[in-house]
Amino acid sequence: MAKFMFVTDLDNTLVGDDQALVQLNQMLSQHREEHGSKIVYATGRSLVLYRELEEEKNLLEPDALVVSVGTEIYLDGNHSVDSSWSAQIASGWNRDTVVTIAAKFYELKPQPDTEQRPFKVSFFLEEQVSQPVLEKLESELQKYGLNIKLIYSSGIDLDIVPRQSDKGQAMQFLRQIWKFAAEETVVCGDSGNDIALFAVGNERGILVGNARPELLKWHSENPADCRYLAQNYCAGGILEGLKYFGFLE
Ligand SMILES: [Mg+2]
Repeated sequence: MAKFMFVTDLDNTLVGDDQALVQLNQMLSQHREEHGSKIVYATGRSLVLYRELEEEKNLLEPDALVVSVGTEIYLDGNHSVDSSWSAQIASGWNRDTVVTIAAKFYELKPQPDTEQRPFKVSFFLEEQVSQPVLEKLESELQKYGLNIKLIYSSGIDLDIVPRQSDKGQAMQFLRQIWKFAAEETVVCGDSGNDIALFAVGNERGILVGNARPELLKWHSENPADCRYLAQNYCAGGILEGLKYFGFLE
């Protein structure tokens, strides 16, 4: 078996089926030991909320941790953020301006302080009103020439981040560091902020069986042979996909 780079979202992708997670963890950890595979978590959570989940679910220590929807990367258990990545996403970003403009939209409810990061401003936004609010907010932000983008997920989470940062671009950054081809890379997700992982190129993609409507819609509009829609949920779906692509036996 050849080594591969395993990149997964956490909530409702890696985490959500405890029994399957134990089995998957065992296989991944053995694969890493024997073949040098790399394990990457790519989550919308901040480092603080990641630590809570890590403890609660007894997650494997990853080789790299991508948190706050791709705006921060921690490598090899390092406790400080990777500065070359931060430098890469900083241009055209102005946090204060984003906050000031967003404050004019009463529909946007700020997320907890732990989720407000140097390169991420986050709100809750109800799905029913989201479409017009997102359009208006985007056009307001464009007026200031900011290099930003909006990521709306799970029918509630809105993240405003630098344009050149998302889970997919963070994944490519790591792929280049460790020199994994797209074909040796597998990405797994369930919701809107994972689209960036699937949209990069030829990486093998696993959509877990419980994938949300926004991801399924994108998948049906952008079909690709390198992507697999699993039947099983969460870690069970990942196991199914890894076998389908021949990464695991
Ligand atoms: Mg998720």
